[in-house]
Amino acid sequence: MGGEDDPMDEVRWHKLRREQVAAVAAAGGVVLLPIGSVEQHGPHLPLDTDTDAATAVTERAARRLGDPPALVLPPIWWGLSPYWMGFPGTLTLRPETILALVADLGAGVARHGFRRLVIVNGHGGNAGLVGVAATLLADHGLRAAALSYWDLIPAEIAARTRHDGGSIGHAGEVETSIGLFLQPDLVRQELATPELCADLAALAAAPFAGAAYAPPDPARDSPSGVYGFAPAGRPELGEEVIELAAERLAAFVRHVAAGDVPAATVTGGEVG
Ligand SMILES: [Zn+2]
Repeated sequence: MGGEDDPMDEVRWHKLRREQVAAVAAAGGVVLLPIGSVEQHGPHLPLDTDTDAATAVTERAARRLGDPPALVLPPIWWGLSPYWMGFPGTLTLRPETILALVADLGAGVARHGFRRLVIVNGHGGNAGLVGVAATLLADHGLRAAALSYWDLIPAEIAARTRHDGGSIGHAGEVETSIGLFLQPDLVRQELATPELCADLAALAAAPFAGAAYAPPDPARDSPSGVYGFAPAGRPELGEEVIELAAERLAAFVRHVAAGDVPAATVTGGEVG
């Protein structure tokens, strides 16, 4: 993407010099904000699995752009994870802390001349909250959108999973695959044994599945904290999911930059 002075060779906001950021703003650039979690991901995956995935998708998407350019803010590492606090290592922020963080970052981004921002989420528990955060960014003159990366490619994931039926789960087939692709040195796949794994197909068949959000209840559903068939994890699947989501996110950002995003794109059909 361009010559050695082209700011888009480096898409991370915090690695640029000040005039490079100004040049992207002047070119109508879009700001991307990854958010994830620091939370238990079974006995076999690192705590930063969600933040690492969201950041990887976002940076890869930004590198595919250039016209319009996009910059990636440092990720918000922590999310809303109270239901995992019974497992070692999990950290959780209060919802109001997350909303305040996004609002403060949005105010700064707007101050430096940007008008569009996309929040890219990697943690299921954040999904409702990032929609609220995007709504509140209008107070700073930003047109914002929020999405979870797996929602960009549901059919692609469904076509490629062997056990988990296209669900992202938690530390199951898809997230284990992503870990094995992005940071294999931190994955202990020999600890991902079948008896740990709650069956996502059974959960998906429960009454009212898909009609309501309820947070995970590991004491009832999965005392190991694993939802999905982790032993099926394979790096090839992780690479495909990350690259396909990045490609789709880049297309979405082009729509955002063109001022072309209908509200229904981000609310699943119910506009207001
Ligand atoms: Zn996760």
